Amino acid sequence: MDINELLDRVKLCYNLTKTYPISFERALFLGWYCSLDNPCKFCYMSTQKDKIKNPIKARRRLESILAEAILMKRIGWKLEFISGGYGFSTEEINKIAELVAYVQKCRQYLNVGITGLEKINLDVIEGVVGAVETVKEDRDKICPGKPLDKIKEYLLKAKDLGLKTGITIILGLGEKEEDIEKLLNLIEELELDRITFYSLNPQKGTIYENKPTVTTIEYINWVSSVRINFPKIKIITGIWTDKIPMISPLIMSGTNVITKFPLFSIFGTKYAYWIENEIIKSNKEFLGTFTDIDVLEGKKKLKKTPYKEEKIKISDENLIILEELKDSINKKINEYISRVKKNIKKNGANL
Ligand code: SF4
Repeated sequence: MDINELLDRVKLCYNLTKTYPISFERALFLGWYCSLDNPCKFCYMSTQKDKIKNPIKARRRLESILAEAILMKRIGWKLEFISGGYGFSTEEINKIAELVAYVQKCRQYLNVGITGLEKINLDVIEGVVGAVETVKEDRDKICPGKPLDKIKEYLLKAKDLGLKTGITIILGLGEKEEDIEKLLNLIEELELDRITFYSLNPQKGTIYENKPTVTTIEYINWVSSVRINFPKIKIITGIWTDKIPMISPLIMSGTNVITKFPLFSIFGTKYAYWIENEIIKSNKEFLGTFTDIDVLEGKKKLKKTPYKEEKIKISDENLIILEELKDSINKKINEYISRVKKNIKKNGANL
């Protein structure tokens, strides 16, 4: 890799995206079980499969999903997508998507595998994401249950239906610099609207357990290559709390959104202030909050949010479900807020 060439490209990307604001997003997970017979080799859920005797019990309750969606709206974190392992029926996905869109007044992205889009209320869906994960030559061995040609077919069909489309890519699976070209070709072929990068968080019990993950230089090489070739694409980059110093280099490389933080464990703590400062010191406009507890509690409204309210129409049946769940959703919201307050006490806030 030619570092001077990379630095020049990063500088171009920074200037290209100077006026793009930065925000946080978070995937809304529906459960901890994936029914794929051949699960992906890096995935935490693949290590849990044999331990879960009753998959239904490994699903989140609706009130918990909706409480999280309401809190995300308050703090200005868009839902990256509604996501879960394989195993949810189209009807279940439709119900959850309608309810989440309704409480957020905002259409949603789905990342739930290849699902029957004809049975989904597409008025509440902004787009779909294909979990490509890697463009490495041996992709079929890493993700044996998710053939790439099927994902491509699905994304092209979604595009025909007027939806936006995106993919996920995990870095740290042994990809080479030459693979970047393959990714650029894929983005062009599918005319993607967005891409999410993650840095592999090696999971215990997987073949990657003791493998090093992606370096900062490699990460910015991938992100800046996409940005320079696709100036308008939305780039979402995922990092875990052990990689906070990667944030500013990724912003300079053209990212729009940061994702993957364990929100309720670090909101308002010194880590959250550090993360916000990584954005502020990059001289970027920042939407949402990672630190304002009054906003999380609903005592104060955000000044700058990435949400744009939309008219969301859902079935009468789902409206009744929402009414019935009202008290349990509020209870769950209070539980999440209490958890955050406890963590702030433990991990100190930079006040
Ligand atoms: S499809 Fe998703 S949840 Fe299932 S094993 Fe692969 S990465 Fe994990």
